[in-house]
Amino acid sequence: MAYDKNNIFAKIMRGEIPCKKLYEDEFAFAFEDIAPAAPVHVLVVPKGEYKSFDDFSANAPAPLMKGFFAAVQAVAVKMGLADNGYRIISNHGADASQTVHHFHIHILGGRSLGGLLP
Ligand code: AMP
Repeated sequence: MAYDKNNIFAKIMRGEIPCKKLYEDEFAFAFEDIAPAAPVHVLVVPKGEYKSFDDFSANAPAPLMKGFFAAVQAVAVKMGLADNGYRIISNHGADASQTVHHFHIHILGGRSLGGLLP
């Protein structure tokens, strides 16, 4: 499957669909999840055309990887989650129920999150 330039997150980054933007730098863009699964639920997406974690890890240049993951950490700090803790999740493919095919990391926090899977 090729990268779809019209996926929802690509449209959000182009400003074609509104979002509650929380952070942007040259590597990453972060916004609130529209259906939060925790008191804080932020999506962080890299700038660039990567379908999932698998694609990003295999193909992104090292400066983008470094900058992207630094942005994930900075957003978690900005949201006040670093002291009490947070969870990051990235779904790749069908078994993980990935629904938007632009690589993204979910940052979840703001309460005790319990076990790894429901
Ligand atoms: P995933 O299942 O890992 O691909 O996650 C996709 C996430 O995108 C879900 O948590 C959705 O709630 C979220 N989502 C879908 N559309 C939007 C949107 N327009 N704005 C913000 N979040 C969205």
